Amino acid sequence: SPIILWFRRDLRLSDHAALTAACSTARPVIPVFIHDGLVEELGAAPKWRLGLGLAHFADSLREKGSRLILRAGPKALTELQELVKQTGASAVYWTRAYDPASKARDTAIKDALRLDGIDARSFGGHLMFEPWTVETKTGGYYKVYTPFWNAVKGRGVDTPHAAPGKIPAPDDWPASDTLDDWQMGAAMNRGSEVVRDYVQLGEDAAQARLAHFCDEIIANYKSLRDIPAADGTSNLSENLTYGEISPHQCWHAGVRAMEEGKAGAEHFLKELVWREFAYHLMHHTPHILDTSWRKEWEAFPWKKDQRDADIWAWKKGRTGIHFVDAAMRELYVTGTMHNRSRMIVASYLTKHMMTDWRVGQKWFEDCLIDWDPASNAMGWQWTAGSGPDASPYFRVFNPATQLDKFDADGAYVNRWLAEGCENPGRDALAFFDAMPRHWRLAPDDPYPDPIVALDEGRKRALAAYGDRDF
Ligand code: FAD
Repeated sequence: SPIILWFRRDLRLSDHAALTAACSTARPVIPVFIHDGLVEELGAAPKWRLGLGLAHFADSLREKGSRLILRAGPKALTELQELVKQTGASAVYWTRAYDPASKARDTAIKDALRLDGIDARSFGGHLMFEPWTVETKTGGYYKVYTPFWNAVKGRGVDTPHAAPGKIPAPDDWPASDTLDDWQMGAAMNRGSEVVRDYVQLGEDAAQARLAHFCDEIIANYKSLRDIPAADGTSNLSENLTYGEISPHQCWHAGVRAMEEGKAGAEHFLKELVWREFAYHLMHHTPHILDTSWRKEWEAFPWKKDQRDADIWAWKKGRTGIHFVDAAMRELYVTGTMHNRSRMIVASYLTKHMMTDWRVGQKWFEDCLIDWDPASNAMGWQWTAGSGPDASPYFRVFNPATQLDKFDADGAYVNRWLAEGCENPGRDALAFFDAMPRHWRLAPDDPYPDPIVALDEGRKRALAAYGDRDF
């Protein structure tokens, strides 16, 4: 009898433990994706990008003689039970997810299917180190990155395996929705055709990115990774988030580069482990997703009103601070943002503008095509100062000195900002094609004055942050 393979954020054929296990039985495999309540809740850009990823993945399955069956309904369990009935399947396999909502759903599904006599099994693959397997000497979890890194770095990571040659197909395929019916781009009120130019879909593209990174960049990664205008990082977060590449594949490529004597390779491994650390924290303290990890920060007098004009200026890249505005445009146009820029816009929003980190977290969740619940929450709480292993409250990034340091020739700002620029380039102009019309911005608008001046904002933030009575 067939095995149902329930795909979620693991849209790849190589190094896929659940798929390999299913194919090794020689029983027919029925790949399925379910548009359930959790998919429904995704932000605009992540949902749109997921739709593109699914279309691409369905093609990859077809090349292996298989298909991707699409089903939709508020509860994944109902859809799976229906599919089991229709296909006579006796097993359902999937790759584990770690956010609290997915964990609750998957546990309930496993229990219910097993009660029906179905072999329901989850497999690893999204992470190199299962969050519950990394423990401190006293049996607790890690709250600080460096000891976490020290605990895992020598552990060994499973060697990636190849894609199955063929995926055994059933005699009859169950009915499937069509992807177009799902309208996964419906909430993209920014021009998705503009963002589409910056997307790199699927397993082959991800492998090409990794190869390019290891051949051309990794040796100088340690210094290049901080320059937002440089091609200095892997850009793999987009693919890692939909599972178009496994972290194991990235890790082993990094180890090979290290053995070849490429200096920045260890640093790349460390970054991959930041992602694992974010999941470790989300597993052990799921409140990191929506509540200040250090509870006392909940009393901080943050601005929260989403209609606030300054918050909108931040979202539109009109704060009057060059680095912040360039970065917010990069986000809007490409669906991603350089890591240094993420820290700077987050610091300006939470510190200079004294705005609740959740306002920024939510905007990122709506705009990022590499949106990841764990990394996004950790990044915001790190910058706001409310997280574990956070930057200390008195670290207020100064976007002007950061610009001098990391964009000395102005390449980043000129690339993304049209206002005040004599000859704006393609990327800077793309923003005006992507934005909704009612924003009423034009490339030749005058560049705004700062909504919060750097010195004044810094002093105000330090006073408020330093005041332990909030
Ligand atoms: P590289 O420098 O090539 O690093 C390789 C991989 O390591 C990345 O793809 C990523 O998976 C991981 N990694 C690197 N830095 C971090 C980090 N600080 N935290 C966790 N993992 C890391 N990353 C996301 O994937 N999704 C998010 O939603 C997200 N939101 C963020 C929000 C804020 C406020 C901040 C400060 C950081 C956020 N990050 C997020 C982390 C980081 O900015 C991105 O992972 C990185 O910019 C991706 O670019 P890259 O793939 O070229 O990274």
